[in-house]
Amino acid sequence: MNVPLLNLQAQYVSLRDKLRPVIDQIFESQHFVLGNHGRALETAVAKYSQTQFAVGCASGSDALLLALMALDVSEGDEVITSPFTFFATGGAIARLGAVPVFVDIESDTYNINPDLVRPAITSRTKAIMPVHLYGQCANMTPLLEISDKTGIPLIEDAAQAIGAEDSGRRAGSMGLVGTLSFYPTKNLGGAGDAGMVVSNDELFAERVRRLRTHGGITEYEHSEIGINSRLDELQAAVLLIKFSYLDGWSNLRAEKAATYTRLLNQASLAFTVKPPLIRPDGRHIFHQYVIRVPEYRDRLAQHLKENGVGTKVYYPIPLHRQTCFGYLGYDEGSFPESESAANETLALPIYPELTDEQQQYVVEMIQSFKP
Ligand SMILES: *Cc1c(COP(=O)(O)O)cnc(C)c1O
Repeated sequence: MNVPLLNLQAQYVSLRDKLRPVIDQIFESQHFVLGNHGRALETAVAKYSQTQFAVGCASGSDALLLALMALDVSEGDEVITSPFTFFATGGAIARLGAVPVFVDIESDTYNINPDLVRPAITSRTKAIMPVHLYGQCANMTPLLEISDKTGIPLIEDAAQAIGAEDSGRRAGSMGLVGTLSFYPTKNLGGAGDAGMVVSNDELFAERVRRLRTHGGITEYEHSEIGINSRLDELQAAVLLIKFSYLDGWSNLRAEKAATYTRLLNQASLAFTVKPPLIRPDGRHIFHQYVIRVPEYRDRLAQHLKENGVGTKVYYPIPLHRQTCFGYLGYDEGSFPESESAANETLALPIYPELTDEQQQYVVEMIQSFKP
């Protein structure tokens, strides 16, 4: 049997007949950048994310950049975030000349540890940027408390977490601003790059809207210097069609996750495999299903590969160990939880189309690994 890490074809085939006419229609109109599809997607995603405003842009990375720009983050400012994340989180901060200040993660959820955030705050801290990793919200209540007490805004990197919840509150709606990615492999994925900024703050959303079109207040009048990061109509149209399935897909992912966890708990394994922890009172949308294998992670991944099961490590090198962030002065050992997560975690195949047989096979193959 073959169980690839990802299978985007299955979703495409099921939607082909709906996608083709809309794509044709956009070609007929020759209206490709910012338009009705983009506006409709913004409205739909804002509502879904429990926010009043949403601004489409060119990628999740740009959504982060725009959110930071709209907070005037610049040279010398500090932004507190997790080192155990996709590169864009730290990259966006550094690109503006600001300093990413990393604090370690919780060992069980892989999200930023709120207890470590407060001691990292200085007079230069401009924002706190939790990442909702793998589709589960960071522990937001203590982070919101810190934000309330200090006045330092929260930017939620919700690229992996559209529709995820913490105590009934949706990802992106809790802080000042949330950022989303519609990269093809995300739970809601386009046919290329796209992203969105969501917020309940009207002035902030308006500023992001200007910044995405070079800071223009009208076509040729510029109040400030922005970037070109607009949402394509083709992407928006594809995303709008897929949007109506998103909630069902995320629920299916959560069901598949529960199945993996049940099968793993029943399996008799000669080595330790810890299923992911689901925080109480949350909604985990399982962008990734990540197990922890303290001892034999790489050999297990190789064994699974040889048996047709795709896996991947998200992420093998924490940001503080990236060459380009060497100037920040962190060492090996600076963030032990992030470093051991990088060494011990492994993502298994998860998507709405994954079958019971495939999941059983994956767990059988884990069981057949002999350390
Ligand atoms: C995917 C992702 C991004 C960047 O999104 P792109 O659309 O790929 O630019 C940022 N942060 C996290 C946590 C992500 O997973």
